[in-house]
Amino acid sequence: MINVSHNISSTSPSKSSFDLKSIMAHEMGHVVGLDDETKLKYGDSVMYESLSTNEIRYNLSKDDENGYHAISW
Ligand SMILES: [Zn+2]
Repeated sequence: MINVSHNISSTSPSKSSFDLKSIMAHEMGHVVGLDDETKLKYGDSVMYESLSTNEIRYNLSKDDENGYHAISW
């Protein structure tokens, strides 16, 4: 479920809107078992705990890849 009380863009985010693809990439990370990344040094991680408006972050970082490979299937 997406909280539509926030301004979300499915095309390109702006100073006042969030990027839908970045949100969905993050939420899909939770679906496969990844937790939020809270360390600032991993701020480029899809799984970083916050996303700013006008920010695009859906390409997996090394931290995301390491987390994925650490999951026991
Ligand atoms: Zn999260």
